Amino acid sequence: MLTHLSPPRREALRHSCLACGGACQAVVVPVIGAEERARIESLGAQLGVAEPVVNGRQLRMVGGRCVFLGEDELCRLHGTFGAASKPAVCSQFPLLVLRVGDSLRVGIDPTCFTAYQTWRDGPPVSSPGAMTMPVPLDPSQEPVESRLISVLEADDAGLGMFLRALAGEPQDGDNLPTGFATRLITALQGSPLDEILNKDGVGRSIPAALAPLRAALPTWSAASPPPWPPADPEITAWGVESVRRTLFLRTQAAQLPVVAGVALLAAAGAVACAWACPTPKDYARALAGWLRLCRTPMYWARLMPTSAAMHWLIRGVGEAPKAQ
Ligand code: SF4
Repeated sequence: MLTHLSPPRREALRHSCLACGGACQAVVVPVIGAEERARIESLGAQLGVAEPVVNGRQLRMVGGRCVFLGEDELCRLHGTFGAASKPAVCSQFPLLVLRVGDSLRVGIDPTCFTAYQTWRDGPPVSSPGAMTMPVPLDPSQEPVESRLISVLEADDAGLGMFLRALAGEPQDGDNLPTGFATRLITALQGSPLDEILNKDGVGRSIPAALAPLRAALPTWSAASPPPWPPADPEITAWGVESVRRTLFLRTQAAQLPVVAGVALLAAAGAVACAWACPTPKDYARALAGWLRLCRTPMYWARLMPTSAAMHWLIRGVGEAPKAQ
């Protein structure tokens, strides 16, 4: 069994949980097995939390937040009974271990809101004993996945270069594909981002992370887009790494099985968040919010409702989708 790490060129995965509570919102948290279910129900009863497990297999969400998440954004199970009391999925997050064919892929989930902050100098994360998930992909998509990941692993990789590879255009420094910036602004301004972020089930962490994007979006002109590439190389580095993790760890494959669609969605958000956020820390938080929002079809299915809309966004072929 081969084990591949993400990032690939680093000696070790590095990460430290900063207890932001962001990951405990707008997610399905599975409760695995009868023993874990009984334990969570018992601990919930001690905390006065009724029916913490719904449908026999997942934690109950209230207003898009885990029923155990306190107003201080800390886990009440962890705080009262210790880290080991949480569901196994929570204890392991954001470490992901995937079984892909005959190999394992190990990495840190790109939707962790604070992963950027300990990416380079956090403590090493080890994976022995971690839960392993099989994440299947249509075999016809695997060459696409492999090619796109290799573009992102180049020493000089940038988001413009990556999007040009997706568009089938020659790579020209880190410039965006021809007309892409104009189309992206048109698509985002016509999308129901505000409507979706105001929904009850979205929780608070995604809207908070995407606040800079929401504020900037109405100020952009499709005829005169913000400049590219970003001035801060850390923004480029984290954008590339986040998109690469999204593909390598297949974090959206279950909802959007076309790898090029996943890649476009992630990279488009990485560009828009870079326009909206001047600092790497804010950028990383916004991009995590974007990737988390795009894990369900709730938003992306309205931003890119058809394959024609996807082709229009990346290549400018055909007509723009109608504003919603
Ligand atoms: S059980 Fe605790 S760690 Fe797990 S999702 Fe709920 S609040 Fe977060």
